[in-house]
Parts: sequence; structure tokens; C-alpha cells
Amino acid sequence: MEKALVIATFNPHKLLEISAILPALPLQLRALSGFPGAAPAAEDGATLEENASAKARAAARFTGLWALADDTGLEVDALGGGPGVRSARYAGERASPAENNARLLAALAGLPPEKRLARFACVTALASPSGGLSVSRGVLEGRIADRPRGAEGFGYDPLFEVGGGPRTLAEFSAAEKNSVSHRALALKGLLPELLRIARYGII
Ligand code: IMP
Repeated sequence: MEKALVIATFNPHKLLEISAILPALPLQLRALSGFPGAAPAAEDGATLEENASAKARAAARFTGLWALADDTGLEVDALGGGPGVRSARYAGERASPAENNARLLAALAGLPPEKRLARFACVTALASPSGGLSVSRGVLEGRIADRPRGAEGFGYDPLFEVGGGPRTLAEFSAAEKNSVSHRALALKGLLPELLRIARYGII
């Protein structure tokens, strides 16, 4: 029987991306949201690593299965690296993506392109049911646009021009995003471990 890997997210966009990025491993991917009684873990760590690890560990403890989580932050040079680990709550505790994007545009109003450099940082964490942990980081460099563009992706994607531009991540197809993204790069670092789990059930 195939071993299961729990994807510890309640964000359907992340679930889709992670499932599409991971190669065809002999692992049955199961969303944490499909486990009765499962709840999102608190994201109150000081770093992306702390949050990703806490999410993965909580899911592994709750399900008794291997669990994979990610935590992502947008780091804007002109904001001293912010909003970073606070990206989800940038415009307030329950801020919508549109509110976060509007706050970001307001914070950078009037700045020329060369002062709008930013990056997405993604940390993925893989936790074993017995408490073991591996983490991996992926970074995508870019620049904050002066208005949202594109309808693909989610979150800050419509404002994030990849590399030197001109397209935002929301103007990339899903396959294109998944071939270059911070999330794909972070997951790549966990592939050796994921392969060992699929083959042997251990890291
Ligand atoms: P978290 O990793 O779920 O805590 O997400 C932090 C914030 O970054 C949220 O506002 C997300 O919408 C946003 N976010 C996470 N991943 C991405 C991405 O791949 N593209 C754009 N925004 C993202």
C-alpha cells in the first residue's frame, strides 16, 4: 500500500501548487483539511522556518503520518525586508489578499522601479510522525509592480514582477509559475527525503 503524505495547508491554491510541483512519487497526497477535526496551526513564529516547522509538526502529530507544510513571506527591500513573516497579516489580522496588495501599493507609492526590489521566500518543512524534521528554503527575486496585473496565482502574485519583468506571477500560467517559483525551489530541497520516505518509509 502507498504511504501517505499529509499536505498541511488549508489554502487550496497552495495545495494545488504543491501537488502539481511534486513529481509522481509513490506517495498518496492527503490534504490536512480532509481530516475531521483538523484545524490550522497558529502562525505566530518569528521566522518562516518556525511557522513552517510548527505547521508540519502539528499535522504529523494530529494525523500520525508524514506531513509537509510551507510558510511564505514577501520581502520588500524598501520596507526593510517586510512584510516578511507577517505577509498574511500585513493589512490586519484578517486582511484579504486585495487589502494586503492595496497596503503594499500605498507603502511604495511614488517609488521608481529600481527601488521596488523584492523577493518571495518560501520555507517548506517535512515532519515525521515521531517528531523528525527537515526544512528547505526557496527564493524568487523580483520587483513590485505599480498596479496589479494578471488573473492567475493568488496572494501577492498580481503585484510581483518576476526577475526583471515585465510579467507578474499572475501573468504566468500555473505550469510556468510552478517551474520557477519559490515554492518549487523549496520543495526541490526536500525531494531526496520525500523519495526515501516513498521507498523505505524513513528519511
Ligand atoms: P502563508 O505562507 O500562508 O502564511 O502566506 C503568507 C502570505 O503570502 C499570504 O498573504 C499569502 O496569500 C501570500 N502568499 C503565499 N504564497 C504565495 C505565492 O506563491 N504567491 C503570492 N502570494 C503568496
